[in-house]
Amino acid sequence: MAAFVPASAAAPTAARGRSAARTSRRAPAAAVLPASRFGGATLKIGATASAFCGAVAARPAAAAAPRTAAAALVMAVAPGDRVKVGVLGCTGSVGQRFLALLEGHPWFEVAALGASPRSAGKPYAEAANWKQATPIPASMAGLTVSECSPTAGAMADCAIIFSGLDASVAGEVEDAFAAAGAAVFSNAKNHRMDDDVPILIPPVNAEHVDILSTQRKARGWTTGCLVTNANCSTTALTIALAPIQRAFGIKSLTVATMQAISGSGYPGLSGMDILDNVVPHIGGEEEKMEEEALKILGGLSPAKDAFAFADLAVSAMCNRVHVLDGHTEAVSLTLDKKATPEEVIAAIEAYPAVSKDMGLPSAPAKDVAYTAVTDRPQPRLDRMLGGGFTVSVGRVRGCNIADIRLVCMGHNTIVGAAGGSILNAELCVTKGLIG
Ligand code: NAP
Repeated sequence: MAAFVPASAAAPTAARGRSAARTSRRAPAAAVLPASRFGGATLKIGATASAFCGAVAARPAAAAAPRTAAAALVMAVAPGDRVKVGVLGCTGSVGQRFLALLEGHPWFEVAALGASPRSAGKPYAEAANWKQATPIPASMAGLTVSECSPTAGAMADCAIIFSGLDASVAGEVEDAFAAAGAAVFSNAKNHRMDDDVPILIPPVNAEHVDILSTQRKARGWTTGCLVTNANCSTTALTIALAPIQRAFGIKSLTVATMQAISGSGYPGLSGMDILDNVVPHIGGEEEKMEEEALKILGGLSPAKDAFAFADLAVSAMCNRVHVLDGHTEAVSLTLDKKATPEEVIAAIEAYPAVSKDMGLPSAPAKDVAYTAVTDRPQPRLDRMLGGGFTVSVGRVRGCNIADIRLVCMGHNTIVGAAGGSILNAELCVTKGLIG
């Protein structure tokens, strides 16, 4: 009774439970997801390793309204058959964004919510100080928040765990969930630089997902895994730079950020600190940008069992500014192969819609978009481009010291956090890595 029957799917496969043998991650035509976490039905998603989810397209999403142009190409799953997901840190800035983005998701259903002992035991609507522009999704408002343990509440039923946990607790908690068999998609810094953990950004380095095979072997996990996002300013930077790196190579860069207040979580800085002000220090942020970018923009070893960091020097200067959402970054680049501003703009405009082409339901029409308007991108005007999943690039011009200057801007809690994690989970579904 699978509601999801793509053209390339083979005959139905026997349902398997949580403790069943590892699903084949290299299945060429269909990823098989176990029944126990999919409302009782076995789910098959046609996908090939090379074309990713291109083969998924078969009929329009019916159960959920398409939220992006890409959604029209994505198979819908009947509500009862969706992958059960849990959200840790559900009351925070990133956690709230997860809930807002997951409402009506065609593949995922929020089944469990976790936060600190301060929130545990309360209905979500009471525990959260909701700060999103849309109401709390009705299906989630009444869920009881549990503690962040793989055995708490409905957590054990969840194949996917999204984590918006504070870094003070994220490391151990995420490990525990992955060891218990869940695929964990983290926003915290704790595991980002681990040797076998990808900092996955589908439009930049989707191939890094292949390290999960090594990770599972090394850690003795079968269905469990750890996947991280970058720090939010690094995400916008690397998505903006991916087309330029591919076309010309990048030797070095300096970046000065203007980061939104929501990047420091809720309640974040006090009004007395940030109103009428710029704070030229964000603890640990410059170091994170300087090391994470090299891992993200690098490749994998030929055996796909180690990261090959990019040979690139990054100098970051991070500032908190009086903006609610959206990190803006002024970048100067020295290229391996000289290019004019026009050539750089052409490379950005020609960059494929990577996430959309992979059939990820949350993908925007374009992952990175160039704007020719002289005074753009601006956070207030451009942060919701592509539903907050598109990074905007503008002001591409020559530089008197380096080769090229530009400005990029991305929504820090959507593409830079919760939305990025959701894209990562969608990518793992298409690769047959869940369950
Ligand atoms: P936040 O608003 O401060 O939220 C933190 C969350 O962690 C809350 O749900 C909180 O629950 C929970 N928590 C705190 N202590 C806990 C404990 N001892 N046990 C269990 N849960 C606990 O922070 P945020 O901005 O959403 O950031 C969350 C994570 O994402 C951080 O690691 C951050 O670095 C990262 N990140 C944030 C952004 C951004 O733009 N904000 C972007 C990228 C990455 P209670 O409400 O119950 O205390």
